[in-house]
Order: sequence, then structure tokens, then C-alpha cells
Amino acid sequence: MHQYKGKLIIHTGSMFSGKTSSLEKDVKRFRIAGYNTLAFKPSVDTRYSTSEIISHDQTSLEALLVEDISKIMEHCEKSNPKVVAIDEVQFLGGEIDEIINGINQLLEKDITVIVAGLDIDFSGKAFEILKELMPIADYLTKHHAVCVKCGTDAWVSHRKTKAQERVVIGATKEYEPLCRSCYVKEKKEESKIVNKNQVTFIE
Ligand SMILES: [Zn+2]
Repeated sequence: MHQYKGKLIIHTGSMFSGKTSSLEKDVKRFRIAGYNTLAFKPSVDTRYSTSEIISHDQTSLEALLVEDISKIMEHCEKSNPKVVAIDEVQFLGGEIDEIINGINQLLEKDITVIVAGLDIDFSGKAFEILKELMPIADYLTKHHAVCVKCGTDAWVSHRKTKAQERVVIGATKEYEPLCRSCYVKEKKEESKIVNKNQVTFIE
């Protein structure tokens, strides 16, 4: 793994697709290979633990909680890592341009950056940060959960409740992985229910 200098490695996909586990696995491999590594996660995502990245399959990795990219840069100035991991990058605070600039600065210093994040939200709309990062990646893996309706590769984290916020943190039970075709069917069913309710309301 010693050829890894200043590479951008991205793990993306829906919820329950194993992207965090893959980030953890990469970090552990870099540690075995003797790289000084630092792992971060946005402080807004404190679902399971305040100082560890823990994936849905309950593996874990020590991580520093940060609000935004400037805090990551400060930590890197101090500890001089060769590999930096950022989990749930879509939750990182601050402007998209600042995040991209920060990551580029790390890459230009020959630091390898591993990022895990959601590519699209519950409605199939792209997260801006991933939209910017994916084309500049050296290595990009799109992970897939399993569609709970038909068992094929899932595409989206469908939200079963009507909450309108883009991400409901800590509400993993409210989401289910669906493939595109099952998602479209589900949306049609939901709109029928809405229409029926509207008719009832008018009556
Ligand atoms: Zn399906």
C-alpha cells in the first residue's frame, strides 16, 4: 500500500450499503502498513458514540469529532498524518468550496484522503459535496444495500415517514433501502394515499 500518496478514495452509496465499514477497513489496512492515520467524523453525527466511527454492522474505529473542514486542517497541522479518513462527509459543516479546497490541500501534501458519504438523499437528489468530490477521486466505489422489497441492489434510502428534512439523524429505522423500480412503485402508492386523503378532506 506504500504507493498510496495523495490519493482520494471515495466510498459512496445508500444507507446500509457498507460504506462506513469499507472506510474502516481501509484505515485499518493503512495502519497495518505503518501509515500515520487520522479519522474524523462530523460532530452532528453522534448516533452511536461521541468518539468512534461505528458502522451499522457494529465495527468501530476511533475518530475525532469535528464541526467543519478547518478543524480537520488544524488537527492535520499538529499530527502530520499520511492518511486522513472522513466519515459521513455530507454532514460536514461549512461551504462546499471550503471543503473541496481543504481536501485538495491535503492531497497536494501527499496525504491520502478516504471519504465515505451518501451520494443521494431519500428523494434521489444528489448531495452537493459528493457531486463535487466523485469526479476528482482516484478510486471510487459505489456500494449497494439490498432492496428490502425484491432483493436486488438498492439505489436509494427511502424514508418511510413524511418528515421533510433532508436527513433525519439517528432515525435509521425510518429508512429502507430500495431499488429504483421498487422506489418508483412505492412513490406511486404514496401519492394514491395522498390523493385519497385529499378527496376525503374535500368531502
Ligand atoms: Zn426492489
